[in-house]
Amino acid sequence: MSTATSNAADPIAAIDDKTTKCIRCGFCLDACPTFRLTGMETRSPRGRIYLVKSWRQGTIPFDSDVMEALDSCLGCRACETACPSGVEYGAILEMARSHIEASGMRPAAQTFARKQLLGTLTAPGKLAASLKAASLMGRFTGGKLPGFAARMLTGSQQASVTLPLPSSAGTSVQNLPERSLAQGRRRRTVGVLAGCVMRVMFGDINSATVRVLQTNGCDVIAPAAAGCCGALHLHTGFHDDGLARARQLIDVFAPLLDSMDAIIINSAGCGSTIREYGELFANDPVYRDKAKRMAAKARDINEWLVEIGYTAPAGKCKAVVAYHDACHLAHGQKVRQQPRELLKSIPGVTLVEMEEADTCCGSAGIYNITEPDLAKRLLERKLNNIRETGAEIIAAANPGCLAWLQQGAKEAGMNLRICHPVELLDEAYRQEKGR
Ligand code: SF4
Ligand code: SF4
Repeated sequence: MSTATSNAADPIAAIDDKTTKCIRCGFCLDACPTFRLTGMETRSPRGRIYLVKSWRQGTIPFDSDVMEALDSCLGCRACETACPSGVEYGAILEMARSHIEASGMRPAAQTFARKQLLGTLTAPGKLAASLKAASLMGRFTGGKLPGFAARMLTGSQQASVTLPLPSSAGTSVQNLPERSLAQGRRRRTVGVLAGCVMRVMFGDINSATVRVLQTNGCDVIAPAAAGCCGALHLHTGFHDDGLARARQLIDVFAPLLDSMDAIIINSAGCGSTIREYGELFANDPVYRDKAKRMAAKARDINEWLVEIGYTAPAGKCKAVVAYHDACHLAHGQKVRQQPRELLKSIPGVTLVEMEEADTCCGSAGIYNITEPDLAKRLLERKLNNIRETGAEIIAAANPGCLAWLQQGAKEAGMNLRICHPVELLDEAYRQEKGR
């Protein structure tokens, strides 16, 4: 578990126990993408933990150097996978970042720009309108954010930020039917989270998710009021805003939990956060129990299909496919084999492994906008690893990775399809059914 708790007397104090678990062994260094790129201790998990611990012990101030060390972190949690001591780095990062935002140490214009960006991404109506505007603006700026906006977000005078727009970006809010019935014998009833970014930018993946669940005997409930889970705000340091969104989502699902076997999520970042609701609300007497119950029912779509014994499709997809592990699925939820299993079961698919499949692509929430230089270097490294495989299709199970890789591949002139594993499965089922 990585999430820091709410409603504690001093939530920041919760990280003290967590930082003392670090034995400074350095096993995490090679797993850390920012350390590998920079070679700097302050850009490594061990270094960042040491800075936070030293600040808490009063031996150093929380100054701009500490803030930059934390800003440069992807929050990918590859260090947690590598750590033999069980350090909950994600929780340390979240609470240290919440101190940055709560203390007002970041320049006001930057905080304002970050809040605006997060507010837009997590409000489907606003996001759809902004994508339309961005697409128009992109024609005049070559897909770049105007200089003043890039500088506000990054604080850098030199910043040149490309808009992370997927080639398939929708410009309208795509809601799901509130109830879709299982095909054939009903085996389970599940909820599906349509989400905020997913509902606008990847509505087709949401629809494919519902169809695949129906095909596998699931009645699907998709409450229209279920929006943002709070992940983007929580990961970026806007703790209270994240909690408010999480509470709204819990309020929507709580009355339905008894009728649902699981809540299915197709976005790795959201799934990772919802699974941590129990710990997040552990000190909140009103939300504690329902948060815990909701977390216990959360499942990634890949994981769920394998868990219920999905039916392998008969329809074909003749292609070489490589799978990119989204950080919050591999490191945050420990789901690695299930998506690969689904892909391999599609007749015609040749699944190949890329080097560093579980290394962050640089997307990382809004990192690709706030830290564009490191994000671009990670993207280039990922695209090089993809090239080496000769794959025609890259499958990934997180909207941030999908948008960032689609944009990167397009800019690099690579003829690649980048999609969610469930889309390929859906296509194979539909081919089988002749639809
Ligand atoms: S691997 Fe774990 S214990 Fe070792 S330095 Fe990294 S965070 Fe600390
Ligand atoms: S979360 Fe990722 S970038 Fe941050 S310290 Fe851990 S491995 Fe490095």
